[in-house]
Amino acid sequence: MTGKILTSRDPVCGMDITVADSRYSTSHRGLVFHFCSAQCLARFTRHPALYTRAQRTADIRPITKKHKLQFVLPDAEALRRAGDRLPAMMGVTVAQPGDDHLLVEYDLRQASLEQIEAEAEASGLILKGGLHGWRRAWWRFTEENELDNLADAGNGACCNRPPPRLR
Ligand SMILES: [Zn+2]
Repeated sequence: MTGKILTSRDPVCGMDITVADSRYSTSHRGLVFHFCSAQCLARFTRHPALYTRAQRTADIRPITKKHKLQFVLPDAEALRRAGDRLPAMMGVTVAQPGDDHLLVEYDLRQASLEQIEAEAEASGLILKGGLHGWRRAWWRFTEENELDNLADAGNGACCNRPPPRLR
């Protein structure tokens, strides 16, 4: 009875992780959790209650978010690179380059806007500031709050009010 491979389920994306090969893990309330990537580990660390409350990851419905990310003087090469790299991220379902933007769609449980922005910038894109920068900060804020509320309440009730108008 040797050679049994011990696996552990990544509570964020539901992948089975071979514990012996695990590179990303953390303990929460005395239990050790293993993850497929730094991205899933970061999601878990931010909202552990959200991922430990539910028993069956497969039963959890995605929380789909969709945004247009705008860039300063986007160069075609960087846009294409981002269009390749972003869909490779856990939870990102759409990354569609436009003239001056990238349309992204993702499951908030698995990917945060912050992580997507970081990956876009790693591809060589410079995200637009000003009003767009402020909007992105607002999206990040409301989306992380939404997850906090979900973790607390255990239901999807969450207010998603439009941002107050800038002066
Ligand atoms: Zn994962």
